[in-house]
Amino acid sequence: MKKVIPLEFRRDEGRSPAPHFSGGPLVDTRQRAMHDLRISVTDRCNFRCVYCMPREVFDANHPFLPHSAILTFEEIARLAGIFVGLGVEKIRLTGGEPLVRRDLHRLVALLAELPAEVTLTTNGSLLAKHAKALKAAGLDRVTVSLDSLDDTTFRAMNDADFPVAKVIEAIEVAAAAGLAPVKINTVVKRGVNDQDIVRMAERWRGTGHIVRFIEYMDVGSTNGWRMDDVIPSAEVVRRIGARWPLEPADANYAGEVAERWRYVDGGGEIGVISSVTQAFCSTCTRMRLSTEGSLFTCLFAQTGHDLKALLRGGASDEAIRNEIAAVWQRRADRYSEIRTGETAKLRKVEMSYIGG
Ligand code: SAM
Repeated sequence: MKKVIPLEFRRDEGRSPAPHFSGGPLVDTRQRAMHDLRISVTDRCNFRCVYCMPREVFDANHPFLPHSAILTFEEIARLAGIFVGLGVEKIRLTGGEPLVRRDLHRLVALLAELPAEVTLTTNGSLLAKHAKALKAAGLDRVTVSLDSLDDTTFRAMNDADFPVAKVIEAIEVAAAAGLAPVKINTVVKRGVNDQDIVRMAERWRGTGHIVRFIEYMDVGSTNGWRMDDVIPSAEVVRRIGARWPLEPADANYAGEVAERWRYVDGGGEIGVISSVTQAFCSTCTRMRLSTEGSLFTCLFAQTGHDLKALLRGGASDEAIRNEIAAVWQRRADRYSEIRTGETAKLRKVEMSYIGG
């Protein structure tokens, strides 16, 4: 991981130093503004989804981060406040599985004091237990990952023998706690769960909840990704649309990742996230903060920028703010636009570490 060297001492690696940030809209080299912050609160997960944390890699010998290396809630909240001052409007807590981090509602309460939306992405396994406390702490919305309604397929995909019924129950408990509508993320892998696409749509039609189908991506370097395994979103829309006609709906806001499709008969909507077949790098407004306090400007990045050294070295808010601004101002990545079979083999950081 790249260590932070104060700007004034940096002998830049062939790049000119970013200008000192002095306010105004913060944009990167492609004129993208920073609006969203994803925070990975833990690199641990109680699932071993085969496309994300394959069990043979993330086994008992895997070097998960020690507690002393991960940011405390107070450190995260301090950084989040600085990010909000720089233009971030949405904060998403993720991981790993964020709800395996003890007392997560405490962090939510700290973040809820900021003028930003606070959301959470979870596998749902612990959500029923925590939904009320999270809502009371100020959580605005929740996204639950659910790859199949078929119990055998679901257990095989999460590779933790976790039953689908518990996740469905968690979605209902979360909705009853005031977190409706719930977004449901389904990663589609050809030959593994694509037979469930229409069934998944049917299950959530008319409930107000929104299922979003995600193209299987070459995140990290452990999932053995192959283009052949990707079901393009266009195919998802075609399959569902053949059963219940769909029409495109406008994005809720500029830079929305999911493309929205509405049922013509009023049954609600679905979303598709097409990072592989229709890259959305040009409108990407996301910064990521890893569990140990490194900044990443792309889900497919190979290196990050350490902020923890600044935080724990007594840096002022202004110094941290300048560092964050400099990282964003230098940003030029557009991985999904230039993805090839070769780039897919690059050694990238794992999604569980950087935050999905
Ligand atoms: N544990 C939480 C969960 O399950 O939602 C949060 C972290 S998880 C890494 C975030 C999201 O990334 C999940 O919806 C997961 O399905 C998705 N994901 C993980 N690996 C992926 C891949 N290779 N391609 C597409 N989506 C992936």
